[in-house]
Formats: sequence, C-alpha cells, structure tokens
Amino acid sequence: MMKPKIVIGNWKMNKNFDEAENLICEIGEKLENYNLETEVVLCPPLVYAELVTDIADQDNAQFYAGVQNVSEYENGAYTGEVSAEMLASMNVAFCIVGHSERRKYFGETNDIVLKKMLRLLANDIVPVMCCGESLDERKSGSHFDVVKKQIEESIYNLTPEQMERTMIAYEPIWAIGTGETATPAQAQEMLAFIRSLIEKKFGTEMAVSTYILYGGSCNAKNALELFSQQDVDGGLIGGASLKADDFIKIIEAGETVCKDN
Ligand code: PEP
Repeated sequence: MMKPKIVIGNWKMNKNFDEAENLICEIGEKLENYNLETEVVLCPPLVYAELVTDIADQDNAQFYAGVQNVSEYENGAYTGEVSAEMLASMNVAFCIVGHSERRKYFGETNDIVLKKMLRLLANDIVPVMCCGESLDERKSGSHFDVVKKQIEESIYNLTPEQMERTMIAYEPIWAIGTGETATPAQAQEMLAFIRSLIEKKFGTEMAVSTYILYGGSCNAKNALELFSQQDVDGGLIGGASLKADDFIKIIEAGETVCKDN
C-alpha cells in the first residue's frame, strides 16, 4: 500500500509581502473544503514564515509551515543568519536543506548540509534533504554515484532516531526550473536506488517508511504520472507552487493516487 503523498511548495526568492499573503490565503481558502490525506507544506521566503505559521497553527489548517534554509550554527554572533531554534519557536515544522541552488550559489557542501540537518533535528523540525546530479553527471552515467555520495556524506551520519524524522528529495539539477522533467521511469529508478541506500544503512522498515520525494519541473500536468510511481512519495514543487490553482492540482494528483491504492 502506498503512503499518503507529501507535496512541498518551494517559493524560492519570489513574491513581495502582499503577494505572499494573498497566495497563502488563497491556498488556505481553496483547501478549506478538502479533507486531505496528502500532507502539504508551504515554504515561502523566510521573512514571510509567520504568514504561514499563523494559518498552519489553526485547528483546521490544511498545510504545514516550512522554510528553505537554516543556519548551520546555534545562536550567537552570526550576522544575518536564522537559527533552527528561532524557527522552532515560530512553529516552523519543515525546512529544505541542501537545495542545488544553495549548493551552487552559496557553497553548501555535504558537510554543511549535515550540520544544518542536525540543528533542525535537535529542534524537532523535519529536514527535507535535497540531492541530485547535474546534466553532465547524468550524461556521463555517474548520477547514481553522485547521489550515493550526497546521501552517504549526510544522511548516513544520522542515528536511526534522527533518520525517522528526515525526508529526502531527489531533484536532478537538469530538471529544476527548466521545464524538462525526469521521466516517471527515471524518477522511479533513482528513488528506488535511494531507498535501497537507506535500506542498506538503516534496514527495511526505515527504507519503507522514509519519505522520498521527486522535484524538478513537476507540474499540474505530470504530477499524477510521477506520483503513481511506486517509490515516489510526493513532490518538491518550485515554479508550479507559485500559482494556487496549479499547486492545488498537484495536491489533487496526490489525493487521486492515494485513493486509487
Ligand atoms: C525546486 O527548486 O525545488 C524545484 C523543483 O523547482 P521547479 O519545480 O521550478 O523545477
């Protein structure tokens, strides 16, 4: 039996305050009539986190609050940074770590990704650890090795208790923001591989229960086919999470797959 899906919206660095407030309210209102199995997480820019936590904290809330980044450090003299403890004190429940854009533009290494995950876990926030290969790596056939190294150098350092509270998102870099999606078969193949890595280190039960998502040009049109793959537990959605109707269609795809299984 398939687990309920998880759909996470990564807004990246988009929307001014009014636009962010409107989009959060629009998604909130549109989801009011649903009785969702699918778990939904909104990750707006950090500065708008409270707009999401305000609604996510309500009893009938249909989504959780997430953010896109956290400091690898605890509190103190780290100008401009935001700690996991601060996020937890605002009831932020999820945080993306190791997104390829952070690895590329902000020098985030597997070591830093691990430190951030540990800060989050210490504060009861679910890390959503991103991994994935570049186009060159895919073309040269090294994509499995690249992802394996990313997993081994971060996830493999967690205790089983920490792993239980961690999610993984496979995002091939060549599919992010490009409109080019991995085929359902490519997504399934890599997610099954990642699950086998989890099984090797943490055992079968953990491998089955770990949420592994696909991300990269997932949209209202292709979500159903992607989510129907055996090992795809949901999606990390960039561009298509910026429009309420598109995002909700992706959530509906999650619901459809869940009800059909
Ligand atoms: C992302 O950045 O996490 C992402 C999946 O982006 P997009 O959906 O726009 O490809």
